[in-house]
Amino acid sequence: MCQRVLTSPLNFAERIEKRLNERAAKGLSRQLVDIEQGNHVLLKWQDKAFINFSSNDYLGLANDSELKAHFCEGINRYGNGSAASPLITGFSYPHQRLESTLCQWLGYDRAVFFNSGFSANQALIFTLLESGDLLLQDKLNHASLIEAGALSPATMKRYHHKDLRHLKKWLRPCQNTLVISEGVFSMDGDLSEVAHMAKVIGNRALLVLDDAHGIGVLGDTGAGSVEHWQVKPDLLIVTFGKAYGLSGAAILTNANLGDYLTQFAKHHVYSTAISPALAYAIDKATEMIQTQSWRRNKLHDLQNHYHELMSDLPGYLNTPTPIKPFLVGGTERALRLSNALKAGGFWACAIRPPTVPVQMARLRFTLTAQHRLQQLQGLKHCLEKQLETYQQEESSYGCYER
Ligand SMILES: *Cc1c(COP(=O)(O)O)cnc(C)c1O
Repeated sequence: MCQRVLTSPLNFAERIEKRLNERAAKGLSRQLVDIEQGNHVLLKWQDKAFINFSSNDYLGLANDSELKAHFCEGINRYGNGSAASPLITGFSYPHQRLESTLCQWLGYDRAVFFNSGFSANQALIFTLLESGDLLLQDKLNHASLIEAGALSPATMKRYHHKDLRHLKKWLRPCQNTLVISEGVFSMDGDLSEVAHMAKVIGNRALLVLDDAHGIGVLGDTGAGSVEHWQVKPDLLIVTFGKAYGLSGAAILTNANLGDYLTQFAKHHVYSTAISPALAYAIDKATEMIQTQSWRRNKLHDLQNHYHELMSDLPGYLNTPTPIKPFLVGGTERALRLSNALKAGGFWACAIRPPTVPVQMARLRFTLTAQHRLQQLQGLKHCLEKQLETYQQEESSYGCYER
């Protein structure tokens, strides 16, 4: 038996147990649930069916039969996997074709592929920034960006959410600077004012936009924030796991930066390429996003209905996107509300710290083109009833939760 392990701070088992217990004590433990994706917005769990208000499948493509058939055709034509990283033999005709589709649509020279948006973000930050550089990030940026920034040798500053005056204060003319923001903020559903940002930054920094929740949803052809604001960030990250209903990601940029990422981004160089069948399906989904504008129109209609139905309820927040946060406050209350909705047949996850700030726990409803008005009405009814119960409790006990 090794004595060092017993006394050393490196006693993993003890530390891990402590961390898990701390999280559980705060009611912040999360669980994997073995969900079965039913058709469109239906979700099954433990033999019960729920209307799913928690997926990021905004356009209803994750279960679309046309896209499924195309994905299968891709497998039949090109096989199951890419079998190598892109610079070895993992890059093939469907990848090349997809790159050219995306570049034409979004207005860039190059698209570099990654297995996930998470790895694309990490790769971008680790590959571009060196010691002495400056990284400015919106305070509410995604964990993949904030974490990579914290690990990078560059100096990171987080400006107040969407506060361009605060951002401007940090800009230094003689320092290599990256400014990164999300196009649509994933937990709040609000938009970055990208056109204004680009103006404020000028040529003092490179502008990076993570459009994970904008692509497919914003703009007349679904090209996302770049189309909505008519601006072109220096680097654009798009992901294929949300409105695309698939998975994977790409960084779009100019020829030189694209070549630099292709050569040096370790998450690209040393990772098995996305499968050719997936690239083939992403290409098809791009075409569907561009041409099937009824999906976005339907989504807009549902957003309007949501506003009409919900705007009277305390906790309602108005957003210009299908991401509808519903502020609840304390963690316990958010969980309780989420459970009550589940009992009513609606799946809406509670979003708790550390994903959002303390006392800002919320339900995050997401709308998809596959929802029906009747399902929204059902959700509203259930939510309203529950909120009334809380009000009654609070007036009889003084205060429900601090
Ligand atoms: C989901 C998300 C990511 C990660 O993308 P994945 O493809 O799911 O890894 C990155 N950035 C933002 C803003 C996201 O919402």
